Amino acid sequence: MKSVAIIGAGITGLTAAFYLKREGVPVAVFEASGRVGGVIQSVRKDGFLAEFGPNTILETSPKIKQLVIDAGLQSRKLDTDPKAEARYVVRYRRPIKMPGKPLGFITTPLFTAKAKLAVLREPFIKPRRDGVEESIGQFVVRRFNQEFLDNAIDALVAGIYAGDPNKLSLPHAFPKLKALEDNYGSMIKGQIFGARDRKKSGEVAKDRAAKFSFDEGLQVLPDTLAAQLGDSLKLNTPVTKLTQTASGWRVTTASGEAEFGAVIYCGTAYQLSELVVEPLTPALSPLGGAREKKFSAFGEISYPPVGAVVLGFRREDVAHPACGFGMLIPKIEGFKILGTIFSSALFPNRAPAGHITLTSYIGGARYPELGLLPPDQLVEATMADLRVLLGVKGQPVFIHTKTWPQAIPQYNVGYGKYRDLLNDLEANSPKLFFAGHYRDGVSLGDSIVSGVNIAERVGKLL
Ligand SMILES: Cc1cc2nc3c(=O)[nH]c(=O)nc-3n(C[C@H](O)[C@H](O)[C@H](O)COP(=O)(O)OP(=O)(O)OC[C@H]3O[C@@H](n4cnc5c(N)ncnc54)[C@H](O)[C@@H]3O)c2cc1C
Repeated sequence: MKSVAIIGAGITGLTAAFYLKREGVPVAVFEASGRVGGVIQSVRKDGFLAEFGPNTILETSPKIKQLVIDAGLQSRKLDTDPKAEARYVVRYRRPIKMPGKPLGFITTPLFTAKAKLAVLREPFIKPRRDGVEESIGQFVVRRFNQEFLDNAIDALVAGIYAGDPNKLSLPHAFPKLKALEDNYGSMIKGQIFGARDRKKSGEVAKDRAAKFSFDEGLQVLPDTLAAQLGDSLKLNTPVTKLTQTASGWRVTTASGEAEFGAVIYCGTAYQLSELVVEPLTPALSPLGGAREKKFSAFGEISYPPVGAVVLGFRREDVAHPACGFGMLIPKIEGFKILGTIFSSALFPNRAPAGHITLTSYIGGARYPELGLLPPDQLVEATMADLRVLLGVKGQPVFIHTKTWPQAIPQYNVGYGKYRDLLNDLEANSPKLFFAGHYRDGVSLGDSIVSGVNIAERVGKLL
């Protein structure tokens, strides 16, 4: 059997490689950088554990749970502390706990009476059926009101995409919300009546899904998957060119060329735009007839920069209990950070006794220029906000920052054109496949499911 080349050793590529290998399909994984995990990066130092990329995995699909079991990681998996469920949203320049129950919604100071009435009115607003692609911002204003967008959804969108709600596409970035309106005529009705349908499919809504990590952080998962690959993992080996052959693809790297039965691209959209592709029959290729071509359209997809700032404090230096998942900050509140995760409240052993870790994010589509600030300025800006919001005094005892110049792809209005192009390329370039965060959803869980699904598809085909 010819082997499968997997480009990218982020969680998508490693998951796909893991399952193909289990099915007896030989694989080779090419990774441009010197490490595995892609944007997953956990660092243990001085008794603190810092996560520079994602902090938790949401268990939205049974396939995620199964991967942990199949990788033999069940005993190292840590669920978030049930006491750390509270989420805060900043309003009136202070963090306010988000209501968990309907009664809490009526009494919360997070929203005015007008916004609360807008929620009660929502089930009676006619669904939109004209096929026009809306932004999540337009959708929320149409079904609720501007206050709901400015004071709640803007913050939630920053927490998921580090994105701009007036640009992110409802059907592409929030397909489940769109489906609620399409299928039930209303978000509220869909939340109530959709529970039964979700139970049937085994899928769990993001707001109810269990969250987890591992004893030494999320890096445990890619490291464990990579350990099974042995020599088939090739680090520091960027793939530069794909040449179609009569039976598959030739993969070119700086260290040479090799033939494969199939190729799965699990990198980023912006790196895909740099890949040179030479189809067998240029005239028939969706790439447009030229002998060699780049997938340059994918370079248009915006990945705004994000700065991650991990700070450790003595417990007595933070006035807020910071007991909960974290706080999200709407733009309207005028802070620089997008939000903060109360990292050491989520899992044990993230900070030494008597200390806490706070992980904050800066930049995104809201303030792209701030995401690229040098480390000392990232820390300064974060500290200024944390002093006001969480009552931080004194100086942090642990400081680590990480700049992601291109962090999370923005599924903005019009994103369908890129998904259509990927479908087209797969249909017309046999044995070349695409998977990962730029196609199947931006969360870690989405990437795992994407990796599982692509392994299944490719395995069946070989
Ligand atoms: C700061 C930040 C915080 C996040 N927080 C969360 C969170 O808390 N929860 C959550 O669910 N999700 C979160 N996410 C999103 C989630 O982490 C990602 O969507 C997911 O990890 C993407 O995995 P991937 O394998 O698809 O891509 P990546 O992790 O980007 O990996 C792609 C890999 O492909 C390699 N590559 C690309 N091109 C080539 C080539 N030509 N040759 C060889 N190798 C190549 C790259 O070097 C890279 O290692 C966060 C993302 C960021 C950036």
